[in-house]
Amino acid sequence: MWIVPEREIAGLMTREAAFDAVEKVFAAMASKDAYNFPVVREAIGHEDALYGFKGGFDRAGLTLGLKAGGYWPHNLETKGIINHQSTVFLFDPETGRAKAMVGGNLLTALRTAAASSVSIAHLARKDAKVIGMVGAGHQATFQLRAALEQRDFEKVIGWNYHPDMLPNIEKIATEAGLPFEAVPLEGMRDADVIISITSSFAPSLMADHVSPGTHLACMGTDTKGKQEVEAALLARATVFADEIAQSVSIGEAQHAIAAGLIAERDIVEIGAVINGAHPGRRSADEITLFDGTGVGLQDLAVAASVVDLAIAKGLAIEVDF
Ligand code: NAD
Repeated sequence: MWIVPEREIAGLMTREAAFDAVEKVFAAMASKDAYNFPVVREAIGHEDALYGFKGGFDRAGLTLGLKAGGYWPHNLETKGIINHQSTVFLFDPETGRAKAMVGGNLLTALRTAAASSVSIAHLARKDAKVIGMVGAGHQATFQLRAALEQRDFEKVIGWNYHPDMLPNIEKIATEAGLPFEAVPLEGMRDADVIISITSSFAPSLMADHVSPGTHLACMGTDTKGKQEVEAALLARATVFADEIAQSVSIGEAQHAIAAGLIAERDIVEIGAVINGAHPGRRSADEITLFDGTGVGLQDLAVAASVVDLAIAKGLAIEVDF
């Protein structure tokens, strides 16, 4: 069995490898070669922690396993370690034997950024120039860095509920040599691509804050009750998702479905676009919206990729297990 510790991930995993792994597994999901198991998420009644498992099996990539972990809200304050903690376990699909244990913290950010990047690559207009960020927390920096590689963006604009956090994303824009402007939500009308990645439970971005032709990647809503964009926006847009079952239950679509604005059959799996079964964007005026809820197969895909890289570079620890 191989172990790839969290400390090795930054030096091993590239954004390109994460993009490839996530794009492949989305395609496998749409062609029914891969599926996610039901998610377990529990408030364990200790340290106010939320703990759970996200697993699945990809018959195409032969990846079987789960991510175990969750959110410990007091970690940073009391122990000096980050609040989100996760570990990926991979198993040999031929025998069921444990194959690898991989640090999952950085991988989670990389696979989440890869998901919105895959959506931008397949759905944004080719001539997109302005990218708008709604959110400026931990994930937002990863999201922006990866998204900037998908189109020849010329400007980054940003809005955040807590304006003091905006320098987090301004720094990424500056590193990429792009101008950054803080805007009110109405200013998002200038964006060709918008990424929302907040922990909000009420919509910030309204339907009239978005111009025709925009691609949105809504990445923050991954739990029942969370919401980043007005439900009416989903009725104006063509809606794509990583997994439809999650989109309608824990994603942005939960609200539009509950309000009767869209139906489950209106949502397209992004993998269908990757596979060529759906044309994706059909006109320069169409609004496309990707509801990225985060599936276990994404974690397994990037973990399998990093295990291969770690073995090739002699950085994986082999244990007799
Ligand atoms: P963070 O705590 O670092 O940042 C939170 C962000 O939300 C900040 O921009 C903050 O200003 C904003 N925010 C907080 N309260 C708000 C409110 N009431 N209205 C509007 N904005 C508000 O968190 P993070 O690690 O960057 O995670 C952001 C979100 O992404 C979380 O909801 C997390 O669960 C989600 N997430 C999703 C996936 C996925 O696969 N889809 C993966 C990882 C994280």
